[in-house]
Amino acid sequence: MEFKSEIATLDVESPATTGTIDLNQETERIYLSAPDVGPQEKQFLYAAVESNWIAPIGPELTRFEDELATVSGRKFCVGLSNATAGLQLALLAAGVGPGDVVLTSSLTFVASTNSIHHVGATPHFIDSELSSWNIDPGLLETTIEAMAAYGKLPAAVVTVDLYGQCADYQAIEEICARYGVPLIEDSAEALGASHRGRPAGSFGQSSVFSFNGNKIITASGGGALVTDDEYVAQRVLHLATQAREDAPHYEHNEPGYNFRLSNLLAAFGRGQLQTLPERVARRRQLNTMYRELFADVPGVGFMPEAEGNLSTFWLTTLTLDPAVAPVTATELRLKLEAHNIESRPVWKPMHLQPAYKSQPATLNGVSDALFQNGICLPSGSGITDSDFERVAGAISAALGVRV
Ligand SMILES: *Cc1c(COP(=O)(O)O)cnc(C)c1O
Repeated sequence: MEFKSEIATLDVESPATTGTIDLNQETERIYLSAPDVGPQEKQFLYAAVESNWIAPIGPELTRFEDELATVSGRKFCVGLSNATAGLQLALLAAGVGPGDVVLTSSLTFVASTNSIHHVGATPHFIDSELSSWNIDPGLLETTIEAMAAYGKLPAAVVTVDLYGQCADYQAIEEICARYGVPLIEDSAEALGASHRGRPAGSFGQSSVFSFNGNKIITASGGGALVTDDEYVAQRVLHLATQAREDAPHYEHNEPGYNFRLSNLLAAFGRGQLQTLPERVARRRQLNTMYRELFADVPGVGFMPEAEGNLSTFWLTTLTLDPAVAPVTATELRLKLEAHNIESRPVWKPMHLQPAYKSQPATLNGVSDALFQNGICLPSGSGITDSDFERVAGAISAALGVRV
């Protein structure tokens, strides 16, 4: 799914912050999750430019990595060009390759699955549980049991922390440990979330964050892998730097990748990271405001926050029961679009994608229904109260309710 982050402006002096009166407010587009840039980012970026570390590596990258390791409660962090690259390297470091099967969530952005494909493995999709919309631990367990019974365990499990909410790691970590299957956490949407007191990014062998323009924090593009396993960290760093050996000349024993994050982007990311708690708080506040206004409308439901979870609510997502709700999800989306407000269907599950629909899957119908009836609403931490009022007004009109 393409978020319009490439169009969303990086100019911090939007009319909302300069105090200019916008006579044509309705024409200003409200995005799902536009970059939210404060003054510190510019300072960090200029300082990095001044220092002349205009290279993929440099002191800002090291600092950003240290800070991300701290935020996620991990020992090691490797800054990477994006989260998709991070997932691919996490799989390689876990020893996954051609002929292997990797169990993964069907309800996700395609990057989680593409990375499995690009290491030559077969994705096997697992459907969602209703309580968190994340990978269903019961289906995961029965699928592993069945695979164990015919003598071929999955080479890894890739979970996704959907829309900023952690999967049920209490159950999933136990299942993976019991079968000795490495667990990789796609935490691209969940920096700043937690599950039973542990931070997103702290589960399994390694976890991946994204700093794409639409995520909780951005570096314009970028990602990171965090882990407690020193071998994994070293392996990922090695592969991300063209698998260059330690020699005065250029020595390579195997093919590698050019996947490191640049020092300049890391500096920008550090500026963003300074305000992570405020960013998460604002997304959560928007979620609460949407719920307060619309949760009681017949047929309207919100993505539940499962017990023990603190979600980033990267995107606030609601469902419209077509038998009861005044509009369908498609009708609501088109009505918001008429007011120049961006919204999107919930991710189209991977088992329905033309690229992947012939791959194995263990399904229960939950992700199909969420795709049919779910819609993601503007949720960026940069959304102002007046933006929110505009969105809320448009939703109220579409639902035929007064707020
Ligand atoms: C955004 C996203 C990714 C990919 O992140 P990039 O940094 O753009 O590669 C992976 N997984 C999920 C669930 C995402 O939302």
